[in-house]
Order: sequence, then structure tokens, then C-alpha cells
Amino acid sequence: MKSNKTTCPLDCYDGCSIVYEDGKLKGDKNHLVTKGYLCSKMNKFLKYDRLKSALYNGKKIDLQEALKVLAEKIHQYKNENNIFFTGSGNLGRLQNMPKEFFSKFNFTQCEGSLCDGAGDAGIQEGRGANLIIPPSQIENSEVVVIWGRNIQVSNSHLMPFLKDKKIVVIDPVENTLAKKADLFLKILPRGDYYLALLVSRILYISQNEDIDFIESKTNNFNDFVELFESIPIKKLSQKCDIPLEAAWEFAEMITSKKVTFLVGIAVQKYFIGHFVLRAIDSLAAMLGLFGKGGCGVSFLSNSFYGFKSTIASLPNKTDLPTVDFSKYSFTFIQNSNPLVSMPNSKKIKEGIEKSKFVVYFGLYENETSRLADLVIPAVDFLSKNDIRTTYGHEFIGMMPKLKESECGISEYNLTNYLMQKFFGTNLKSEQEYIAEIVSSNSFTKDGYLASKIYEKIPYSDGFYTDDGKFNFLDEFEDDFEQDFEDDNQYYILTIKNKYSLNSSFKCNNFLYIPPILGYKDEDKVELTSLYGKAEFVVKIDKRLRRDCFLTYSGNAKYNYLTPSICSLKGTCAVFQELKVSMKKVTIQG
Ligand code: SF4
Repeated sequence: MKSNKTTCPLDCYDGCSIVYEDGKLKGDKNHLVTKGYLCSKMNKFLKYDRLKSALYNGKKIDLQEALKVLAEKIHQYKNENNIFFTGSGNLGRLQNMPKEFFSKFNFTQCEGSLCDGAGDAGIQEGRGANLIIPPSQIENSEVVVIWGRNIQVSNSHLMPFLKDKKIVVIDPVENTLAKKADLFLKILPRGDYYLALLVSRILYISQNEDIDFIESKTNNFNDFVELFESIPIKKLSQKCDIPLEAAWEFAEMITSKKVTFLVGIAVQKYFIGHFVLRAIDSLAAMLGLFGKGGCGVSFLSNSFYGFKSTIASLPNKTDLPTVDFSKYSFTFIQNSNPLVSMPNSKKIKEGIEKSKFVVYFGLYENETSRLADLVIPAVDFLSKNDIRTTYGHEFIGMMPKLKESECGISEYNLTNYLMQKFFGTNLKSEQEYIAEIVSSNSFTKDGYLASKIYEKIPYSDGFYTDDGKFNFLDEFEDDFEQDFEDDNQYYILTIKNKYSLNSSFKCNNFLYIPPILGYKDEDKVELTSLYGKAEFVVKIDKRLRRDCFLTYSGNAKYNYLTPSICSLKGTCAVFQELKVSMKKVTIQG
């Protein structure tokens, strides 16, 4: 009997297993992690308005006509400087299929990340490879430290695995979990690095480091000691705005216990983001928390680690966070909304407007599609074959085609059309691409495919570095001005929202500010950063520190404030590397 199971394609930790039945999406009760329920985004997935028709210069055209225009324009610009830009909202591997075609015409692709690249780079420096702690191991922890991650919103299927654990929450926002935690540290944004050093220093003073682990499994611990001793302990406490007593309490809670740190991307959306993850990793390594059940540091993993795919990559690369669309004649944007999701919206908009011909290929109308010359509708995940891995657990998600689509075309079929048109050849079948990925690195666990890397406890056979040992953090530089001389200067955070995935679905464009500032709901304000200005409507949020504001990712205005720069390591956007000032907008007349 044909399976009616599939997997949520969305860029999310949980990678939910789904049953498609009677035209409805339901949670798969048998899946070990996602256990039968779906979030509100997926429950409403089939109700969101989708692009139903192709558009050329704003007028509806037939899909076959649109594909003809696409081929003509590729032919016209084929000898110029062109770019293929794809988003990561859908994590299916066959989303990359158009690279098979564009690689033949020297298109440029973006390298880097709008998400976790800086932290990933820091982890790789210390451990050699970035692996997660599978939920079944988190369940064996005694203490779980949730650091810059709002589990209830962004990783809700992990909640049952946290039952009966001591919980520490470290976050500038007093979220729901923070209210219930055994210890909540309301940290200064950008202070995470300093807190990791402060707690390491306390553990060292109280002689609670794991000497056996340090001697047998790590390099250069003395360099790490020298680093944290080089900053006065009071200064470390000021830099993260965590009182010494609270830092001692935290250190005591994680001493001689099985501890898992669940670290989110919020801690590393800064120029020095890779140092933050390396510092947290070094704190954990000092306590011997790697390679044992119920222990470790879990960030967003490189979930494709160990797998192989033969889908081509493009010959020319440019850094994603600083891409300049104005340099390209033909711009092909797939499944993405760079006008909202990329830093420096003004530069992105001007760049796209200067590009000679812009194609948007995706599921939804958005700010970027409205600038495109040609719009081609895609099909959703139920109407094509694909496969995904996830950065929240070890299972692989199969995504077989379960229904025909009334409109649109898949990435595979669009690529195949172009291959036939230009070269008279066909791609390998979708099943062949998928089988190659599965056979490269999988095993079966409780009836589901999983990554072979997780057959054993991560790092139980050593680290993935050249000598198999962990490399402690041994250097640090930071010239960002943290001390607020000016009262009207604030940090601004971007966090995930329950109802949206970045700029898709139901976006929230409010600016949230603390009550102490004397504003009220619906006031209009203008924020100014070093990089731009934008107006927002205010909502008062009691959960915030007095020195920080909050927006939800996908806020259509936020990126008019952000810098077009890359993190020091990891080619990552640095969405929070800014402070803003605020003034009230007075309505004229
Ligand atoms: S929780 Fe994440 S993976 Fe699960 S259905 Fe929602 S978006 Fe998809």
C-alpha cells in the first residue's frame, strides 16, 4: 500500500512527520520525536493564499508561456553576470535542483547564512563537526540550560523531553519557560560570551573542572584559563549584566551533573558570533560534558553532515549577507523574500530594481515577487518528491509526492524543462537523487530513517578535529561599544513567532518595547541606527529589559535598520549588531 506519510518541509528544528489523509494534514503519532501534533503554521498550511498563476510584467500568463519567456531571457543574458538566489524556508534537498542547470551557465550562488553560520563556525573550530544532542539523550539529562532559545515557540516538540529536569533559562526576554525555570538569568544582549567566561572562571576558582576529561580529551586548557583570567571577574559580570551571586548559583547547578545546553541562534547574531559558541562549548568541555549520555551542547547542527548528494553547485560564489543584486543582469530568485529577510533592505531593493531581468519562482506572493518581471508559481511539498534532514533531531524526513497540484511547477520539473530546451537531455529521476542521499549515510531506527552519525552518542569516539581532541577557546577580540552613555540607545532583538516563518505566513510588524519608557500601545515611533531609519507601531511588552526592544523575524521594516556585513567567521548575517535610538512620530494636522 502506498504510504501517505510525509514530512514538514519548513525551516524548523522539529521536522515533523505528517500523515496526509482525506485532504488534511495530521501529525504522525508513531514518530519518536514529533509524536502526532503539528504547529499552527502547518495546521493552516493548506489555507494560506498561494500564487495560482504566472505573471509577466504584472499580467497573468499561462505557465507554459512563462517557461518560454524564462528560456528566452536566459538565452538573452547567458553571457552576462547572472545570479541564482534561493531561500531556506523549504529544507527539501531537491530545492537545489535548478543549480544543475544554472551551473552550465556560470551563474553565481550565495554562500553563507542568514541564521546560524557564525555559531556553526565557532563549534567547528572547537569540535571539528557540529552535531546536536538527540532528544532521546536530552531526556537523560539532569539539568537543561536553555540559552537564547525559545523552545516553546521554535522547537515545541522538545518540551516533553524536558519534563522533570532542572531548567535554567538565559535570555534577555522573560519568556514563558523563563517564568517557570529553576533559575532565570535575564542577560544583557550580546553578553553571552562574557557569561560563559564568568561561569568558567567560577568553576575554576571552585576547582570543579573535570581534570580527567581535560587531560585525555582536550588541547590547550591553559590558554582558556589565561583568557578568562585576563578579564577582571567584576567586568565579566558587568558585561553580561548578571550579578556574581546568580552566576555562582548557575555554576553550582551545573557542577557534577548531566547537563545539556540548548543554544539558540539569538546568541550569535553578532560580528563575534563564533566566539560565543566557542566560549559556551569551552565551558561545557571544562565540565567534561561531551561524548556522554545526557550531556553536551546542542546548537543547530549541520544536519547534512555525512550525507552525499550529486546535485551540482554553482561555479561562482558571493557572500550571502552582503550580496549586491545590482551587479547581475539576470536574477533568478527562488522561494525567498530577500527584500524582507536580508539585512539592509534599502540596498536589496535598489539592487533588485537595477538588475535587468528578475524572475521570482515560489509559492507565495511577497514584497520581492512584486518587483519581479516574471513570476512563476511553484508547487507545495505534497505535490513533488523530496527528502530533508533536520537540525533538531537525527531523523531523515521522506517527502514523497502525495497529490497532483492544480497550479505551478516543481523545482525538478522546471530544471528538467530547461535541460531539455537547452541541451536536449533529461535529469536523473527524483528517486535516484533521493536514493543517493539515503544510501550515503542512513540507518533505520524504530521504523524511521535516521542519520548514521547518530548511531552512537555524539563525540563518544572523540572529536572530529585533526587529533580527535577538543580545542579550547584561546583568543578574543571585540570593539563593539556596549556601555550605554546615551540613555536613548537600545539593543533590538529579532525572535521567532509562533504564526510565521520569517516573512511567510502571518507576520507581525509591531515593535515591542518595555513599559518603563512611558509609551503606550499603538504609538508610532521612528527608530534610527547607524545604517538606516524605519517607522513602527509600538506594543508594550513587560517581558523586556529596559535597554532592549524586540521584533519578530519577518518584520517588514526591521531590515531597514540592519548592516550589510558578515560575521568575523562563518559568513553569517549579523542582524543584532546594532543599537537604535527612538523618537515619537507626531501626526501632522
Ligand atoms: S513544528 Fe516545525 S516542523 Fe513541525 S509542523 Fe510546525 S513548522 Fe513544521
